[in-house]
Amino acid sequence: MIKVESFELDHKKVLAPYVRKAGVLKGEKGDLVTKFDLRFVQPNKEMLEDEGIHTLEHFLATFMREKINGLIDISPMGCRTGFYMVTFGEVEVDKVIEAINYSLDKITKQTEIPAANETQCGSAKLHSLELAKEYSRRILEEGMKSKFYRD
Ligand SMILES: [Zn+2]
Repeated sequence: MIKVESFELDHKKVLAPYVRKAGVLKGEKGDLVTKFDLRFVQPNKEMLEDEGIHTLEHFLATFMREKINGLIDISPMGCRTGFYMVTFGEVEVDKVIEAINYSLDKITKQTEIPAANETQCGSAKLHSLELAKEYSRRILEEGMKSKFYRD
């Protein structure tokens, strides 16, 4: 079996919300790629509702790119407790937290979901602006941390 880095994380010991730098990969030509976990809610205790995480995904795809150059991808985790994020270059956790706080604050002020139509989205009805705002307010209140294991 191939070892998968994220399977090595003890999900019983983490304390959400947090940003974890999962690793920096180096390509054949020397390019660096950084991979992050953006954990919004506590694993095995809570899940983000489908509509809410999907709407967050649409907003974060736009707003995170305003702050992080070289952002390749930000996608929901299958366990619905947060997002994976991949960037070109080496990016520091503090910079990601700053970008998340910026994005979440901006989400709380939105009145329309970007690209929530059948041309631009695969499940255009699966959205909730209210849930995305509620999650954003909550994460801002709790505060994204760089420390992810509880003491
Ligand atoms: Zn979509």
